[in-house]
Amino acid sequence: MTIAPKKSSTETLKKSIPASRRAVASKRSAYSKAEVEEIFRRFKVQRPEPKGELEHVNPFTLVVAVALSAQATDAGVNKATRALFAIADTPEKMVALGEDTVREYIKTIGLYRNKAKNVMALSRMLIDHFGGEVPRTREQLMMLPGVGRKTANVVMSMAFGEATIAVDTHVFRIGNRIRLAPGKTPDEVEQALLRVIPDHYLFHAHHWLILHGRYTCKARRPECERCIIADICKAPEKTFDIPAPLVELPLQFSDQPA
Ligand code: SF4
Repeated sequence: MTIAPKKSSTETLKKSIPASRRAVASKRSAYSKAEVEEIFRRFKVQRPEPKGELEHVNPFTLVVAVALSAQATDAGVNKATRALFAIADTPEKMVALGEDTVREYIKTIGLYRNKAKNVMALSRMLIDHFGGEVPRTREQLMMLPGVGRKTANVVMSMAFGEATIAVDTHVFRIGNRIRLAPGKTPDEVEQALLRVIPDHYLFHAHHWLILHGRYTCKARRPECERCIIADICKAPEKTFDIPAPLVELPLQFSDQPA
């Protein structure tokens, strides 16, 4: 069944809230605590142990893989890094390899020249300032060349088991589209998600949202007819309001940009 886009809640909001307070109200999640709990309960049933799709063998190769993944597909990064990580899985080995060789290995990845420079620079910094180990704090991770807040959050979560929310293009879109965690910047969406997601779902929330965005709530046309939260979703562009059957999915691998 196709339903018309829902505008009534927005109109009601505009009428009932003075203009000065609308900006604040529009930043709030559109969902009650119970609804957020139910959304993430279903995500958990669908993907009990969601995993990132970037291949790595240790925290160092994870940092490199995430840094290489900007504006590239995980599948494309994996293809290039498999051979690279087989011969250089530590900062010392990476530096010994040299920038020209690293560039050759990653030349199929977008922005590879700049990324090869960053890989060398971050490897050197790890050796010079962190004893060759990947640091655990966000501040220290963000000191590394090519590592921003999103990359630092991914590394803290996947390498060190911290409950962080890395806001990539999918997480940012979903936070705003379905009004779960509205925000103008990735930082605002991150803070809003940290406020609304129950603690017991926080660790996997980042991957659940990414995978939901990558495979269902897609950028150009959300596939609402395949969506397990279609009945709860409050996105104005929602096209279907009957939830898809809630079953566990097999692992999926995408060739879409992260
Ligand atoms: S119902 Fe549609 S818009 Fe809402 S979360 Fe699902 S796919 Fe996205």
